[in-house]
Order: sequence, then C-alpha cells, then structure tokens
Amino acid sequence: MKKIRKIGVLTSGGDAPGMNAAIRAVVRTGIHNGLEVYGIRRGYQGMIEGDIIRMDSDSVSGVIGLGGTILQTARCREFFAYEGRKKAYEQLVRSGIDAVIIIGGDGSFTGASIMSKEFQIPFVGIPGTIDNDLYGTDYTIGFDTALNTVVQAVDKIHDTAASHGRIFFVEVMGKEAGFVALQSGIACGAEGILIPEQKGELDKIRQYLTDRAKRKKSSIIMVAEGEDEGGAIAIANKMKEEFPDFDIRTTILGHVQRGGSPSALDRIIASRMGKDAVEALMDDQKSIMIGVVNGRIVHVILSKTVKLHKMVDPELLEMADILS
Ligand code: ATP
Repeated sequence: MKKIRKIGVLTSGGDAPGMNAAIRAVVRTGIHNGLEVYGIRRGYQGMIEGDIIRMDSDSVSGVIGLGGTILQTARCREFFAYEGRKKAYEQLVRSGIDAVIIIGGDGSFTGASIMSKEFQIPFVGIPGTIDNDLYGTDYTIGFDTALNTVVQAVDKIHDTAASHGRIFFVEVMGKEAGFVALQSGIACGAEGILIPEQKGELDKIRQYLTDRAKRKKSSIIMVAEGEDEGGAIAIANKMKEEFPDFDIRTTILGHVQRGGSPSALDRIIASRMGKDAVEALMDDQKSIMIGVVNGRIVHVILSKTVKLHKMVDPELLEMADILS
C-alpha cells in the first residue's frame, strides 16, 4: 500500500453551513500528521480543470463560523462521463495527490464511488448536506443550522399568521427527503407536515381544515419541496379552491435555508468528521463515508450509503401527528 503524503479536499453538490469547519479540520489534522493538504476548488469541476491550491494552517484561520464553503462548490456534468473522470484523475496525478476527502451529498459520493473503482485513488466522504438524507449517519453537516434557520423564520411567520388568522403553507428544502420539514414542523408546532415519504397526508389536512381550523387563530403547514402534490403553491391553490372561506397564504423559504453561520452542533460534528476522515485515510481505509450514530463516529462503505435509503423515524411521524 502506497504511503499517503498528499491529500486533497473538496466540497461538492449543494453547499451547507459547517463545510468550512470540516475543511479546517481536514487541513489542520493533515498538517498535524505531516501531510501536505491541497484544496480542490469548485468540486469535481475544479478537479477536472486542475484548480488546486496548497493549504496551510493560516488558510483556514477564522473560517469555522463562516457559512458556505471557502473552496466553493459546483455541480459538474462532465464528471458523469468516464472521460471527465479520467481528466480529473490525471490532474490528481499531476499534483501528486494520493487521496481525496469529499464533503458533499449522495450524488458526490456516487461520483467518488465510481471513480475509486476506475482509478486507484482512495476516497473518504464526509456527509455535507442540509437534507440529512444520507444512509448510515444520524447527522449530515448543515442540517442542524438549516433546521434552526427554518424554525426562526416560521416563528416569525406564526406571529403574523396569528394576527390575521391565516393558514400558511411553508415550503422548505427536501426534493426527495422530508427530514427538514418533519423536524422543523415538530420544532415549530406545525398543524400539518407534508413530506415525500408519507402518502395521503393531504386528506388529513382537508380533515383538519374542516374540523379544527375555524377554532384556531392560525395554522402552519410545513411542506417539503418534493412532496407528491407538487409543493406548497400547488397545495395552497388547491386548498383555496376547496376552502374559499379561509385566508390561505404561502411562503417558500428557499435558499435562505442554506446560508448563515453554522450552529455549534454543526461546527463540532464537522470538526470530528474532518479529523476522522484524515485519520481513516492514514489508516489505509478507502471508499468509506464518515458518519455519526448515537453520538459516535462510524465508518460506512461508500457504495452502501449511496444505494441504501435513509428512512424517516416512524416514532417522530407519530409524535408529530399526536402533538399537532
Ligand atoms: P446535495 O445533496 O446537496 O444535492 P449532492 O452531492 O447529492 O449534494 P449532486 O448535484 O447530486 O449533489 O452531485 C454533485 C456532483 O457529483 C454532480 O454534479 C456530479 O459532478 C457528481 N455526480 C453525481 N452523481 C454522479 C454519477 N452518477 N456519476 C458521476 N458523478 C456524479
């Protein structure tokens, strides 16, 4: 096994608060262990183009509290094709990079998993996405911050909703997963939660509007963007037609959910994962994702986290139903 001397780190896919804390941990742990650390800018796009910079301890000073990613990120079409990945491999060889740490979501890990089979480069993944939708880890970096952003925003919406006696459908991120909608819905005391993982929930909302809403001052219904009925606007329009007496409004929180200074939890998880990712590489591990389960760091085979689907916790769903 070739001894690892130079490692690369990149952020890929959607940005998430806490990615910088992970980059910082990778850089400082690498240097602490005598490695050279290189930042690959703009994800796989930068890998293909050789947009690679040497990083030292000072290059990550003061970044732990910054949102976004100092290495920038990208969605890279070219990387889907073998030719693109070959170019990327050649750039790594040119820079003498022996191993790469990918901070991203399942798409980024799929790309890493494919490339590691085609070329002899060890990859280790750190889950960085606000969606928290990766199999094998309780948390992904950015989820906690996004959740808190949503809760702050919805608390404010609640104030105005209560003053006017309105029903708000609030759409949050989650194209294929409802973790943000479910947990923020619980934290905000939402009257309804619509997520892609649960079918037939709109009937419950209908029932609620028929039975209860008239008695309440206001209501918040959380909607994940990938929800089956077509998102908050489509649902609100449908409900307006069916319940013309209600004052129904829509808010789409959008990209505000991605930004902002990471929460303490995200900074700490990112730091732990970043440190462990470097140590895993030095321990000759490859094609794994670093996860956190029951508060402890775990290693999950990268192809497994890509193939398997993380389920929403049925106990949380039941609780949300009871408490609403
Ligand atoms: P998020 O969950 O925040 O969207 P992600 O990592 O899932 O993050 P994607 O846009 O799905 O984001 O993937 C990021 C990049 O990973 C893609 O732009 C592409 O370069 C690479 N990638 C994704 N899927 C594949 C694949 N099947 N083969 C090769 N590369 C891929």
